[in-house]
Amino acid sequence: MHRVALVGRHLLNPSLVLHRQISMEPRAAVDRVRQSGLLKTQGLIGGKWTDAYDGKTIEVQNPATGDIITSVSDMGKKETTDAISSAYNTFNSWSKLTASERSKCLRKWYDLMISHQEELALLMTLEQGKPLKEALGEVAYGAGFIEFFAEEAKRIYGDIIPATLADRRLFVLKQPVGVVGAITPWNFPLAMITRKVGPALACGCTVIVKPSEYTPLTALAAAELSLQAGIPPGALNVVVGNASDIGDTLLQSTKVRKITFTGSTAVGKKLLAGSANTVKRVSLELGGNAPCIVFDDADLDVAVKGTLAAKFRNSGQTCVCANRILVQEGIYEKFANAFAKAVQNLEVGNGLLEGIAQGPLINAAALEKVETFIKDATSKGANVILGGKRHSLGMTFYEPTVLGNVNDEMLVSREEVFGPVAPLLRFKTEEDAIRMANDTNAGLAAYVFTTSIPRSWRVTEALEYGLVGVNEGLISTEVAPFGGYKQSGLGREGSKYGIDEYLELKYVCLGNMKEA
Ligand code: NAP
Repeated sequence: MHRVALVGRHLLNPSLVLHRQISMEPRAAVDRVRQSGLLKTQGLIGGKWTDAYDGKTIEVQNPATGDIITSVSDMGKKETTDAISSAYNTFNSWSKLTASERSKCLRKWYDLMISHQEELALLMTLEQGKPLKEALGEVAYGAGFIEFFAEEAKRIYGDIIPATLADRRLFVLKQPVGVVGAITPWNFPLAMITRKVGPALACGCTVIVKPSEYTPLTALAAAELSLQAGIPPGALNVVVGNASDIGDTLLQSTKVRKITFTGSTAVGKKLLAGSANTVKRVSLELGGNAPCIVFDDADLDVAVKGTLAAKFRNSGQTCVCANRILVQEGIYEKFANAFAKAVQNLEVGNGLLEGIAQGPLINAAALEKVETFIKDATSKGANVILGGKRHSLGMTFYEPTVLGNVNDEMLVSREEVFGPVAPLLRFKTEEDAIRMANDTNAGLAAYVFTTSIPRSWRVTEALEYGLVGVNEGLISTEVAPFGGYKQSGLGREGSKYGIDEYLELKYVCLGNMKEA
């Protein structure tokens, strides 16, 4: 009765998504997860489920209903210090396993995530609010990083360099950086973790994860499955609680050799500065301000479908969400009408209910931010084509919104709105579109809709962005590199490139090779 449909392998390929979904009550969903043994509420340190040392807890709320799902340990400096010691001690043994041994553990972890796809997805919808179908997709996508890096573990090759002197041999070894601190956001409660932990564990690093306090349950459930998969105690630790106490402890420790972070640009800059004292390796996946450029020669249906997906996934709460929709003047009216019609069909509600396409925003601050941006835009001349107000469901639900006549003076086009608001801006020429698209400090994702192949190349090459979708709004996959230009980040995650972030290069010169 309470079964939900499994989705296919890829989050982002709608053709692989099965559409059967049956509505479920939040209480029944919590019960289902509890019965599976995946409702964990303590931190994980050295393989032991651990309370905060002072017994403090924090409540985890369902943003769709306001109900408290459960409470989790509220940890800080002391627990983080112990998690670091545990990761440090385990590094010695984990990094010395063969690649094949580590690979087998990761593969088992992947299999367990997939066999618990429904429970993980229910947990995610409960604590984060995204529609269940998207949550099922995120589990498949997130688990995909573990599968991919289980395979990559066996392909960490070194090099032999032609020697400059006859009696020498020159080698390059690749070795794990060591203990990694991974800090992750609430908008992808599983995938942002696996994208870091997969490559880190694959090459022999050990990890301390700090998930967002809004979405710790998915992280803890995944950690429980890692233990079941045979990943040894101490290789993966999870501390939940006070962000700056945990973050500062990770930054100050000389045992932690790398910080990997996904989240806001403001916190990313703090972590980058805080890493200077101990000269840690740093990878940052930060905020975006994605332009979505619709040219006069675009296929209207493709452009509407692609823009809808790029804008409204996760209620607009993704770093790659289209934040500015730049529409050429010849197609502007047609596009605005067709797009608004499509947006109107997006059903808003509790993500556990069948047919829901838009869940709530994560919290009241997110809702207020959206309201401020709309007020700013309308006071400067934007017109509300659709939506533009809180949803009658209350809580943090907001009506899917389309704004017309937006310009680059408005907050909605200067900063990430991180909500279900699609601002339309007009442009005249290809040069204008490129200039407007690049006029930001962000450089994560960009989208281009055109039927001209030469134009698609010209524009793609000119865009200062780490990811470009041409005639496609959903582009993330574990097999391709993900990361930003400019202030959107440092480094890349996923793909064969993602593993380099967790490896040191060691040059070895073997000399005195004269003997016969
Ligand atoms: P956030 O406020 O920066 O939080 C991200 C993580 O950092 C959370 O775990 C948070 O903990 C923690 N944190 C906050 N202050 C900290 C501090 N002083 N020291 C150490 N850790 C600290 O970002 P968010 O609101 O969760 O996520 C939204 C942002 O993430 C958006 O800007 C979005 O674009 C970006 N994002 C980027 C990518 C990418 O791949 N580029 C992907 C997803 C999201 P608490 O939550 O417990 O406070």
